[in-house]
Amino acid sequence: MSKEGAIRDPFRELVEAYALGSLDAEERVRLEAHLATGCVDCAKALGEALWLVSQLACLAPAAQPSAMLRGRLLKTVRGQAQQSDVQTSATTIPSWMWGAVAAVMLLALYNFREARSLRVTIRQTQAALNEQVAFQKKSAQELALARREALILTDPRSIKVVMPSTRTGLPDLHVSWHATLGILISGEKLPPPSGTRTLQLWLIPKVVGAKPVPSLTFRPDSDGKFQLLVENPPDAQLDTKALAITEEPEGGSPQPTTTPIWAGSVAGK
Ligand SMILES: [Zn+2]
Repeated sequence: MSKEGAIRDPFRELVEAYALGSLDAEERVRLEAHLATGCVDCAKALGEALWLVSQLACLAPAAQPSAMLRGRLLKTVRGQAQQSDVQTSATTIPSWMWGAVAAVMLLALYNFREARSLRVTIRQTQAALNEQVAFQKKSAQELALARREALILTDPRSIKVVMPSTRTGLPDLHVSWHATLGILISGEKLPPPSGTRTLQLWLIPKVVGAKPVPSLTFRPDSDGKFQLLVENPPDAQLDTKALAITEEPEGGSPQPTTTPIWAGSVAGK
């Protein structure tokens, strides 16, 4: 028992071990007698110790037992190894203290629940934030795309191509081809290709005998509309004689397998 200095309360060092129920009978009686005198420091320390015990019971990682408490724990473990009639903490803690223990346990449980609900809130906030970022990213991409399409449509340097249909009753398709921003083709009131078949764009080279260069595939939406942006055409304006659109199996073809449904000459500027 350390009794260094008159200022220091010797009972204070026993409080943690007391809360754990690891004091021997003599120490326990002496500390209880001391607590009964109404020592504010020890009462406060006991409250904290009980909180700590409850935190240990909840395995809260934040609980940090003092060196003194660890020592007492070791002593208890050693004592239990030596004696068979060791008292448990339940019998060592006097009955009048159980109200305080219950209150502290309740507080710990409350904190645990609070922490859990806080984690849920953080997760939800994080998810909402991610959604927001994704939405902004998507909006930014859509905006960039819309801006690009608008530039292709309005730039006087874009080549305009009208693609009449080879089939009666089908509307013309309209093409704007910007040398650097790409090809934009749009149409409406189109019947959907049968089954999973798709429409495919071809660039017909000026070079005599050269094969059509395959480009993107597309399908009109349920309203029969489509807008196709070819950001990186597979061939240059100057090398292209005409554009054509055929119906192809799903995924497109390396070479046209049907005759074009639409075709239009590219008249360079
Ligand atoms: Zn005291």
